[in-house]
Amino acid sequence: MNFEDTPQEAAFRAEAKAWIAANAPRQYEEDLRKASLGRTVIKGANLLEVAKAWQKKKADAGWACLHWPKEYGGRGASPIERVIWQQEEGPFGKLSSVFIIGHGMCGPTVMAFGSEEHKRHYLPKLASGEHIWCQLFSEPAGGSDVAGLRTRAEKQGDNWIVNGQKIWTSGAHYSDYGLLITRTDPNVPKHKGLTMFFLDMKSKGVEVRPIKQANGMQEFNEVYFTDVVIPDHQRLGALGDGWNVSLTTLMNERMSIGSRLATGFPEMFEFCSNLMTDDGLAIDDPATRSKLASWAVKASGLKYTSYRAISSLSKGERPGPENSIGKLVSGSMLQDIATYAMDLQGAAGALTGTDEQEASGQFQQMLLSSPSMRIAGGTDEILRNIIAERVLGLPGDIRVDKDVPFNKIPTKGR
Ligand SMILES: Cc1cc2nc3c(=O)[nH]c(=O)nc-3n(C[C@H](O)[C@H](O)[C@H](O)COP(=O)(O)OP(=O)(O)OC[C@H]3O[C@@H](n4cnc5c(N)ncnc54)[C@H](O)[C@@H]3O)c2cc1C
Repeated sequence: MNFEDTPQEAAFRAEAKAWIAANAPRQYEEDLRKASLGRTVIKGANLLEVAKAWQKKKADAGWACLHWPKEYGGRGASPIERVIWQQEEGPFGKLSSVFIIGHGMCGPTVMAFGSEEHKRHYLPKLASGEHIWCQLFSEPAGGSDVAGLRTRAEKQGDNWIVNGQKIWTSGAHYSDYGLLITRTDPNVPKHKGLTMFFLDMKSKGVEVRPIKQANGMQEFNEVYFTDVVIPDHQRLGALGDGWNVSLTTLMNERMSIGSRLATGFPEMFEFCSNLMTDDGLAIDDPATRSKLASWAVKASGLKYTSYRAISSLSKGERPGPENSIGKLVSGSMLQDIATYAMDLQGAAGALTGTDEQEASGQFQQMLLSSPSMRIAGGTDEILRNIIAERVLGLPGDIRVDKDVPFNKIPTKGR
């Protein structure tokens, strides 16, 4: 594996670095650097507004959604140039988190299945941050098993009438559009009766109810649909082909989550280097050193695994299912690190909010946010299934309802 930039890559890196140095919102840099452990807060400013302004500035200069074609708001850059941009954007990249679902999942799905008219109309505004999109897949009865979803779409003339409920929809409360998977035929096996649409989140009959999280934030929502009208031209893919369309979204989801994984290790190393305990500096304690050493090994493993994916991207290959390991390892590592950081601080670990307790506030956020990382975009168990079946070639999970018509699957209510 060669870690050096090619001459073209080096030129691209220099250009990106110079533009970022001249244009990034430096006044927020310190807050953004500190904000890796659970939530991003910018003192005295609205995060959404700052994020939109930075995205617009990037789009105007041709630095938004780099790997998208120019006619759809991108730059036509190579996958490796996109990785270089992310490396150079550094802490300012955290401002992209509100766009990650739209740019990483919804945009690529519209690009693959939308009409040319749709692509030219919707994608540039998505790229520039003017519009935000959300992903309406999970339901109370369909999370890991998305194909078990029950939200119905019924044809009426040239329109579809949608009724049902989604849950855990990140950003629905500030989204302009949503990518929505529905059941259009309950008489066929569950994967075969699904159809994908996109819709205006301000449509009549859409109700968004925010969910309050343990970390104090409200990042995701319940979304209810009551007789919502969606024109047929907003269908993505063929009738009944929604599962196939959703695979494009989910494959892009794993790739976009994998591209910015936090482990908490650099923060923990710095924290232990400065924390004075009754027995001296935490980093001098043998038990702490042993833990730091094993986290350092895992962090290096993750780094080189991601380099392997980058390297295959640069050769024009598509990173495979083995990349599921990144989120699996980093999710539990974040949780372990946060728990140990709180233990090291004793009773003070429970304090948050003052400048003196800044570190404990950060690790507390990390502790409260890290479980979500082990669920969103595929739970630990589902990722293990993927690795077992598709990387190691072990026998498949038991799927008893796979070939049964959806309306014949025994259930308490439908
Ligand atoms: C922070 C966050 C943001 C999210 N954002 C979105 C979003 O924007 N849009 C969206 O549509 N969804 C979103 N989700 C939902 C997410 O995709 C689901 O929570 C996830 O797929 C798990 O589904 P579930 O919650 O229904 O759990 P379930 O699928 O009910 O799983 C419950 C438990 O059973 C285990 N399990 C399930 N099936 C198997 C199996 N076959 N083998 C072994 N174990 C199994 C799971 O691992 C888990 O431990 C988000 C979730 C989180 C935490």
